[in-house]
Amino acid sequence: MGCWTSWRRACARPKSKRTSAEAVALGEFELIRHYFAAAACARAVNGVALGIGDDCALLALPEGEQLAVSTDTLVEGVHFPQGAPAYRLGQRALAVAASDLAAMGATPIGFTLALTLPAVAPAWLQAFAEGLDSMALACGMQLVGGDTTRGPLSLTLTVFGSVPVGQALTRHGARPGDLLCVGGTLGEAAGALPLVLGECTAVTPISDLLLERYWAPQPQFALGLALRGLATAALDISDGLLADCGHIATASGVALEIEQSSVPLSDAVCAFAGRPAALQAALSGGDDYRLAFTLPAQHLEALRLQGHMPFVIGKALAGSGVSLLDERGRQITPRQLGYQHFREQP
Ligand code: ADP
Ligand code: MG
Repeated sequence: MGCWTSWRRACARPKSKRTSAEAVALGEFELIRHYFAAAACARAVNGVALGIGDDCALLALPEGEQLAVSTDTLVEGVHFPQGAPAYRLGQRALAVAASDLAAMGATPIGFTLALTLPAVAPAWLQAFAEGLDSMALACGMQLVGGDTTRGPLSLTLTVFGSVPVGQALTRHGARPGDLLCVGGTLGEAAGALPLVLGECTAVTPISDLLLERYWAPQPQFALGLALRGLATAALDISDGLLADCGHIATASGVALEIEQSSVPLSDAVCAFAGRPAALQAALSGGDDYRLAFTLPAQHLEALRLQGHMPFVIGKALAGSGVSLLDERGRQITPRQLGYQHFREQP
């Protein structure tokens, strides 16, 4: 996409008058071609009728399916630290965006990448494109287009998936009596934060594992598909268990009770930071991208028969809001619910 200033500059300066420095610099279109259009993840997969290179990509949806669409932006200094490793950033940017498809029970198809870069740094771009490629292949998604502009580093990815009409997993169907479940242990990404931010420089198998969980979360696509027709509501946990369960409670018009002792903690975070910190990370730390969902109890067995072993952490009941209960069923007021932009954190 052009902007009026670059267009005016292009008009004012004929190509033949370009300086030699400009001539060797990689322009927008060479950059797109070299790093993105030529990437393995830009090669045709099912569901993409036309990929990078035209004004639009064309996606082909199977009969009876709806297009699931979601966008996520990552801004340097807000969503990732300055100087973040480019390969890791490529992996994380796509995983974070693609997780929304898993949360809707959608089959992933493809994504677009709107990339704003302060400068063309070939080594950075190469590593970023490789990281993106590795996650795209792991997710079975094709890069179908995007936009490339100059400015402070930020990445906007829009992901596309397909889901049979009427079968998408939304946030609004939870009913009193449903079980509340999560798709795996929680808190590992939050447990990795001191490492990500360079506040701690431990290099151990545990620190490696935590960093892997932060930089390359795995969207729970298979679980999302298995939940179609079984779960009454679902989402992926990006801002913290308590905060995100609040979204299901509000959208569904129910109360959700969580038993603190049933929340699955990560052994790695317990070993790395201690149990209290692991619990705090599991309750309020974001970035895990596990699915949280409500499920009528009679469907738990069907899910287990398909090889999924979700953790039951509580239940839905009439009322509103999310409450956390101790072993005796007493309500505990959590210190922090989760992260919100534009709100001062306590
Ligand atoms: P337009 O001006 O028509 O919006 P652009 O000139 O911005 O198109 O981009 C040309 C082609 O390259 C389009 O197909 C676009 O989707 C694709 N593209 C641009 N930037 C990227 C990127 N960072 N990654 C993948 N594809 C890109
Ligand atoms: Mg165009």
